[in-house]
Parts: sequence; C-alpha cells; structure tokens
Amino acid sequence: MSAANSPFGYALPHIQKMHGYTPGFQPKGDGWVKINTNENPYPPSPAVEAALKAAMGDVLRLYPDPRSEALREEAAKLHGVTPEQVIFGNGSDDVLNLLVRAFASESPASYLLPSYSLYPVLCGIQDTGTIEVPFDRSMELPFEALEKVEAKILFITSPNAPTGVGFSNADLSRVIEGFDGIVVVDEAYADFAEENATELLAKYRNLVVTRTFSKSYGLAGLRLGYALADKEVVEILDRVRDSYNVNRLSQAGGLAALKDQSYLKAVAAKICRTRDYYRAEWEKLGWFCYPSQSNFLFVEPRNAAGESGAAVAQDLFEFFKANKILVRYFPSSPLTDSFLRISVGDEDQMLRV
Ligand code: PMP
Repeated sequence: MSAANSPFGYALPHIQKMHGYTPGFQPKGDGWVKINTNENPYPPSPAVEAALKAAMGDVLRLYPDPRSEALREEAAKLHGVTPEQVIFGNGSDDVLNLLVRAFASESPASYLLPSYSLYPVLCGIQDTGTIEVPFDRSMELPFEALEKVEAKILFITSPNAPTGVGFSNADLSRVIEGFDGIVVVDEAYADFAEENATELLAKYRNLVVTRTFSKSYGLAGLRLGYALADKEVVEILDRVRDSYNVNRLSQAGGLAALKDQSYLKAVAAKICRTRDYYRAEWEKLGWFCYPSQSNFLFVEPRNAAGESGAAVAQDLFEFFKANKILVRYFPSSPLTDSFLRISVGDEDQMLRV
C-alpha cells in the first residue's frame, strides 16, 4: 500500500482537506434540557403515529414509491403549485445536497455568513468554489454585496439561522431579480415567520424554496424535507436524486403530518408565544436579542457587571451545560461569538433556563 501507507491517502485530495459537518450535540442519558438544535418540544400530530403503525405491515418488504408522489401532490395542494414543482428528500439537507450537486459543481456557490453551516460542507464535498457574503451587525440582507456575486446558485436562509431574522418578500424579490442563477430560500423555519417566499414562486423561475419536517412538524427523527421550484428545476433535481431517497415510513408519516395543518398551526403559534415572551424577558435584563421569526432566539447575554462579549457568552454556555441545559454557541466569528442561540422549549424547559 502506498498513498503514504494509509488508506486516507487514496481519498480525493479535496476530501482529504475538508471537515465534515458537525451536528449539534446529541446528549446521552436523561435529565437534559435539550434546546440546542431547534427541535420542536412538542410531539407531532397524533395522525402521524397512526399512519406509521399502518405503514409498518408487510409492505416494508417492498421499496417505497421512488417519486414520493402522494407527498408531492399534498405539498402542491398546500402551496398552490403543481406536483411537478415539488421534490422530496431525506431531510431538507438531502434536497440542499441535490441543489449543490446539480447547480454548483463547475461554478461557485454563494451563501451568507452567518447562515446554515451545512452549505460550505456540501460545497466542499463537490469541490465547488464558494463566494461567502458577510452580514453586518444589522443582520439585514447586504444588497450591494449580493449584486456583485457571480455564481449559478445562491443560498439565503430565511428566517436566518442562527440569528432568527426573517427577510421580507420585498427584500428577497430584490435579490432574486438581480441574480443570474438559482436563488434557494431555505425556509426551514418558515412556519414561525410572518411572510413566506413560496408566494414568489409564481413570479420567479429561478427561485427554489426548501422546507423541512424537522422543526414545526416535530418530526426531526423522521428525516423529511422538500423543495418547491419551477418544474424544469425539479426535473434536474430528479436526475440527481437517489432512486428511493424517502423511505416508506417517512412518506406515510409525512403525508399524515401535511394533512393536519390545524395541528401544525396550533403548535407553531404556541412556540411563537413562548418565544416572544422570553425575548421580552431577556430584553428587560438588558440583553440584546434579534427579532426572531423562528423557533429560537439569538441573544447576547450580559454579566452582573453589565458586560457582554465572547467571554460572557462562553461562561453562560458552560454554566448552562453544567446544569444539563444544552444551548448552541458559535465562537468562530466576531458577529456571533458574544451570542447564544437558544431554541424555544416548552414552558417547563424555559422556566429552568
Ligand atoms: N436548513 C436550516 C436553516 C436548518 O437549520 C436545518 C436544520 N439544522 C436544515 C435546513 C436541515 O433540516 P433537515 O432536518 O430537514 O435536514
């Protein structure tokens, strides 16, 4: 064996250099207040359990529907598009991966910083160039910098993560109109937001909107997400997709969840009420908090002396952890290192925080 006597050396050079995605910490054992990965503190619609039980029978021997047609039809109805404009994936991460593979390999991909930290990893795997566009402290879209981006695909997380700031359809339209390529609006948190970019699909053929079942639907464990786009974009993504990328149980459970919109709306409204209450409480303490349109708050804590900063945020992060409360800390940038991202939990969890 050559390759420096290690099988590692046989891997593609760009893979040898890259780091994989680091998911939020998943603790073992009981007693944790786990508010670090923006999961839903409430269970999914009861209709999901019934659908999963019904799907558990003999049919698990058989492959699932390769195109997840029933899901495409239901999502199309929900969003006022045609089923040809919908594609499902094994989590929205799968759909984001398809988008990078289909639209970015030969040309760079672009995304904002800070936003969802999976985009650079997906680009790293494909060895695409990347154009990173920084936010400033306002965390509003930097239009002038975005106008100069030359890429075939641009990712905008809205509401953004980790800040929670949502972008209006007017602001998104301005970017989409000025961009010569595909604009992906990653709407993982859209059910907690005031406006949805899905309304813009009828107007812009270069818009792709992605959604997930991991947050508002309370189904992170099921791994299901989708994209809405022009039918030509979906046709391209279908070429790249694994043949059976959504398993039978996810298709059955996801369909039941999609059909129970009143449950979804009630849970999202409850989470938004808790979010707004705690934002106001923390602001009373003098802690800066971005206006959140998601199921988490990005908050800049102060210590007893009234100081904020990276050391204060890190101390509070460690204090929480020592008390079995898991939140998320992003030390890698001066724009984020004085903040903690706290997912909105249920009332007991929030009281403990
Ligand atoms: N987009 C954003 C902005 C997210 O925060 C997440 C979850 N971490 C995802 C997509 C991925 O969602 P899924 O669980 O559907 O893969």
